[in-house]
Amino acid sequence: MEKKVLRIALIGYGRMGKMIHSIAEQRGHKVVLMLDSDTDPQWDSPRWADVDVAIEFTAPHVAFANCKRLLDKGVAVVSGTTGWAKELECLKEQLEAASFGALLWASNFSIGVNLFFEINKRVGAIMERVSDYKPSLTEIHHIHKLDAPSGTAITLAEGLIASMPSRLENWTLVEEGTQTSADKSLEVRAIRQGEVPGTHTIEYRSQVDRIELTHEAFGRQGFAEGAVVAAEYLVGRVGYYSMEDLLTYFLDNQ
Ligand code: NAD
Repeated sequence: MEKKVLRIALIGYGRMGKMIHSIAEQRGHKVVLMLDSDTDPQWDSPRWADVDVAIEFTAPHVAFANCKRLLDKGVAVVSGTTGWAKELECLKEQLEAASFGALLWASNFSIGVNLFFEINKRVGAIMERVSDYKPSLTEIHHIHKLDAPSGTAITLAEGLIASMPSRLENWTLVEEGTQTSADKSLEVRAIRQGEVPGTHTIEYRSQVDRIELTHEAFGRQGFAEGAVVAAEYLVGRVGYYSMEDLLTYFLDNQ
């Protein structure tokens, strides 16, 4: 399949914006605009007509306004900014009623993590039938991370609970070295350690052995790659898209 060279606007030029810039160029695309908090977006400028897609990684308090402006202008938007889920619902509704505009938002753009979500559910469905094994989940992140457990750990826990309905009812965040007394609660542990970018492990333990599934991020590159693949996917489409849609496209284009 011939790949189109995209003209990309980067909204937010922080750690993610810079990494996305480098990955986009490696994949043969052109970054035609870079906006940060101190740049005037010039929303009425004709330069927006030259933009195929905007990739937005900023901050929760500005993401909605940025994405709405871009959608109103008919620019396709890939957004990875976290922490604005409520306002996002308004944009989904706007897109449902509109005949133009496209948005793909994800809390985790890593293709590897999204594959891991799928693997987790499939293994859970097998383990649902094997009562000897008790599942648990551990995430490890750098010491600067404020939330615990991570959003990725919550998605993994929810996937497992849905795949093991007779074994699990909910999840409980427990301290390292402790256990929950609740029978049908998935134990989730959050460890903060050095500069670890993000490691998630699902363990199945029986009396005689242990099975472990781990996803370990080596850095932010995986998120940036996923965001650029999302931009390639989104251009030419209309509507709201999710990571499940992107994963199908990614697997079909391998
Ligand atoms: P960062 O703080 O390094 O960069 C954010 C940048 O946005 C800053 O340079 C800031 O000046 C700029 N900014 C703020 N307001 C702006 C505005 N109105 N217009 C344009 N730019 C503006 O943060 P980061 O590590 O790049 O992360 C950005 C966001 O992406 C966060 O919400 C983070 O949680 C999220 N994130 C998501 C994923 C994912 O896979 N979805 C991965 C990593 C980070």
